[in-house]
Amino acid sequence: MTQELHIIGGGMAGSEAAWQAAEQGVRVVIHEMRPQVATFAHRTGNFAEMVCSNSFRSDDDERNAVGLLHWEMRAANGLIMQMAEAHRLPAGGALAVDRDPFAEAVTARLNAHPLISSSFEEVTELPDQGHWIVATGPLTSGALAESIRAATGADALAFFDAIAPIVYAESVDMSKAWMQSRYDKGETVEEQTAYMNCPMTKDEYYAFIDALLAADKTEFHEGETAGYFDGCLPIEVMAERGRETLRFGPMKPVGLTNPHETIKPYAVVQLRRDNKLGTLYNIVGFQTKMKYGAQTAVFKMIPALHDASFARLGGIHRNTFINSPTLLDDQMRLKSRPNIRFAGQITGVEGYVESSAMGLLAGRMAAAELQGRVLPPPPADTAMGALITHITGGAEAKTFQPMNVNFGLFPPIDARGGRKGRKDRYKAYTDRAKESFTAWLS
Ligand SMILES: Cc1cc2nc3c(=O)[nH]c(=O)nc-3n(C[C@H](O)[C@H](O)[C@H](O)COP(=O)(O)OP(=O)(O)OC[C@H]3O[C@@H](n4cnc5c(N)ncnc54)[C@H](O)[C@@H]3O)c2cc1C
Repeated sequence: MTQELHIIGGGMAGSEAAWQAAEQGVRVVIHEMRPQVATFAHRTGNFAEMVCSNSFRSDDDERNAVGLLHWEMRAANGLIMQMAEAHRLPAGGALAVDRDPFAEAVTARLNAHPLISSSFEEVTELPDQGHWIVATGPLTSGALAESIRAATGADALAFFDAIAPIVYAESVDMSKAWMQSRYDKGETVEEQTAYMNCPMTKDEYYAFIDALLAADKTEFHEGETAGYFDGCLPIEVMAERGRETLRFGPMKPVGLTNPHETIKPYAVVQLRRDNKLGTLYNIVGFQTKMKYGAQTAVFKMIPALHDASFARLGGIHRNTFINSPTLLDDQMRLKSRPNIRFAGQITGVEGYVESSAMGLLAGRMAAAELQGRVLPPPPADTAMGALITHITGGAEAKTFQPMNVNFGLFPPIDARGGRKGRKDRYKAYTDRAKESFTAWLS
């Protein structure tokens, strides 16, 4: 153990990076600006705070790329996955967690580690010396973002994502709604009944779409651009694409049986549990930039939500990320200043899981470097390898946009020899990835 590793940002990526480096025997200092300096999305001073949804998405490690990423992070002693497992909530096939106890547990584990210390301050400039990981996320403070822009010469990109509203469970009309996971997915009854489903008739659905389209929306500030993650479009933007779009998206009525009526609903709004107590539910896929007053009026048009009380309304937010394909090497180092690594959402991955995974790699790579070794990136046929390959060169730099992990990033697989159909192909991808990842780890 010779030198310290400094990590800016104690979010998903920074927490995982700190844990991984310390577990490799390197002394780590986390520099976190909260609670002294707030962001508009974080509420606490905890590390690894989940700012919106409480879901780590699919936990299916056989046929889903995010589930595979979970598997790889677990295999690599990932702190985020360990704590998510410890605070898991029923959510069908998804890995949902009780957000506050989860973040408190991550914080406690980092604080208790003998090689990790924390410094609560805003870092306003990219440091010239020492070994650093920048993991400041989509809400990187303005001063640091400016310093990054000056150092990289590249234009920082402003980008918008949207927050889904949360309702109090007791305010949902259960004489109209019912509990069921789509296709009754899950091992236990609790899992199979994890979602609240709010049905709508055809007339109700069309009236809702009309109101959605007519509602007051938040305007973008001057100089901001309205780009969205394709997988996280605001509900009104989806509605603008066609009156039926939502019925084939978050409001699809398939795999659900309304016990209150024999006629099939034309559309269904799903609510997912947001805390362990089961007192809060978020409206799945209803991220929005409607103004608050309009949101309440429009969402109350959903019959089961006519008396709903909202614990939090939806909103829009900024996402800061760098052009990693041109700026970073395959060790996640800034080519122009190799003492600085980037990790997490700021590298152009998207989501809690992907950000943590990039923190895991950056932490391990930095630790290896400090110990005089070189840790090669995982092979591109693993989920982590596919992501890092994408952001550090695989993606088209000119059109680079944040990316979720998906099988499209993996090298194609020869799916012949009986492996027909998508499901079998995905299983072949995950089998291959697990073998490669295990070999890389060892
Ligand atoms: C409003 C909002 C909603 C989102 N919703 C979802 C969602 O539902 N699901 C999902 O998977 N992802 C969501 N995301 C993306 C999510 O933020 C990331 O996936 C994840 O949190 C990124 O992890 P990270 O470690 O890169 O950044 P963060 O978790 O944001 O951590 C960055 C940390 O750096 C700190 N920091 C920033 N600047 C400085 C500085 N100059 N000095 C010191 N510390 C600093 C911040 O306080 C923060 O603690 C959302 C993002 C936002 C902003």
